[in-house]
Amino acid sequence: MRDWLSHRVRVTPDATALLLASTGDSWTFAELDEMVAETAGHLAALGIESGDHLGVVMETRVAYVRLLHAAMRLGTVLVPLGDGLTETELRAQAETADLTALVCGAETERRAVDATESVPVVSVDSPTTDAASSLSDVSPETVAPASWDLDDTQLLLFTSGTTGDPKAVRLRMRNLLSSAVASAFRLGFDPADKWLVALSLHHMGGIAPVLRMPLYGMTVVLRSEFRAGATADDIERYDVTAVSLVPTMLRRMLKKRGTLSESLRVVLLGGAPASTELIERCRNYSVPVYPTYGMTETASQIATARPKEAFRNVGTVGRPLYWTEVTVLDETGTPVDGDETGELVVSGPTVTPGYYGDDEATAEAFCEYGLRTGDAGYVDSAGRLYVLNRVDDRIITGGENVEPGEVVDVLRSHPDIRDAAVVGVPDDEWGERVGALVVRASEAVTRDVVEEYARERLAGFKLPRIVAFADELPRTVSGTVKRDAVRERLEAVGE
Ligand code: ATP
Ligand code: MG
Repeated sequence: MRDWLSHRVRVTPDATALLLASTGDSWTFAELDEMVAETAGHLAALGIESGDHLGVVMETRVAYVRLLHAAMRLGTVLVPLGDGLTETELRAQAETADLTALVCGAETERRAVDATESVPVVSVDSPTTDAASSLSDVSPETVAPASWDLDDTQLLLFTSGTTGDPKAVRLRMRNLLSSAVASAFRLGFDPADKWLVALSLHHMGGIAPVLRMPLYGMTVVLRSEFRAGATADDIERYDVTAVSLVPTMLRRMLKKRGTLSESLRVVLLGGAPASTELIERCRNYSVPVYPTYGMTETASQIATARPKEAFRNVGTVGRPLYWTEVTVLDETGTPVDGDETGELVVSGPTVTPGYYGDDEATAEAFCEYGLRTGDAGYVDSAGRLYVLNRVDDRIITGGENVEPGEVVDVLRSHPDIRDAAVVGVPDDEWGERVGALVVRASEAVTRDVVEEYARERLAGFKLPRIVAFADELPRTVSGTVKRDAVRERLEAVGE
């Protein structure tokens, strides 16, 4: 198999491949193909070849798209690094990934140079330091498209680092291709689609549509950064049909604009749990929301619910995609009965062969049923998947296990509770006690009301014993609840 753009350009050369949201400039597949050939030619002239590890640290821009496809054309392993990383983080990731070269832009050159010593730094702009060279200083070679085997590694992508240092996930051509095909089976992507990309290109959610654009024959509408109002306006202006967002982004867009353009047929939502309130808002405003579940290790989503299903079964991320199998394991590593909660384990062709240069982490991540996700959840009798929380966030109180996600769901179902976070608060007698930080819509929601409401819906050991109120939950920039901060607040109350 050649790179995906080489195949596409023979099928629909004149269709629009790329559109830059900020200017409205666009490129057909034939034009993109020419630019990619040029970039690949420059990289080849610099000595980059098949199997090399090509790092990229750059803001979202057309040059980035060229590089992604040029890497596939050359047969090199692409290593996207976060443009927002500090020098120390960048250095650590560049070392882990064994880079052959690091490509940057003017905006990231300083950091790229400071974070690397023996790795050549190449800029797609005119370099401002002697330590970097220019990509286009050499005359481009003519490159014949590399031939890909399904087992070849195409991408090293770092995880978000929520539970520790980010890990370099190896993704093979097999992983990317099967994930793209399984997604298209479920969501029906085709050349009529216009997919707006506002997520960072160094995470799966952002890079997947850019890589898949030639495979589906669709148009990618590229936004250099996410801003709620402006992104919603671009969707309207360019008749965008598909977009992937994390819940915080969608919440902010709906707050700003009320609803989204009717041109949208698929709003993929992933990366974190979507709140009941958000799903209900989507239902009220007819937003075609598809809650998804996936991770870097599975080359994007492995389960997706359709809007009707999501509205009817709030909290579900739907059934697994074609090929993917999900097994739920109890603490002893045995598959659970029925819809019991446990750790989600996934297997199928989209699952990574492991972490680059970390055999220990790889060995730990796999068991006989597949990849241990570290996420707790369950599968209902209809085969729908529910993700509750990370296994590590599980509360153990008096020897009983409590999944905080289950308690959060119950609290959020109260009409006057806007949001809630549930954590284990250390306790001498019980080991941990269930604590809840609650964002209420009305002062009428007192501690007693919360307790009473929970008591009617949850077993005794799951009840929040420590309750506090806040105007908003402490969250990271990406929207994840800061559990330590919540715990501190509750510890103060418990004393
Ligand atoms: P690290 O592995 O370094 O700790 P990370 O797991 O956050 O970081 P990603 O691969 O970007 O890195 O994120 C995948 C994780 O995101 C999943 O394992 C899961 O915990 C969370 N996630 C994704 N989708 C959902 C969802 N729909 N509901 C709940 N959690 C989700
Ligand atoms: Mg992870």
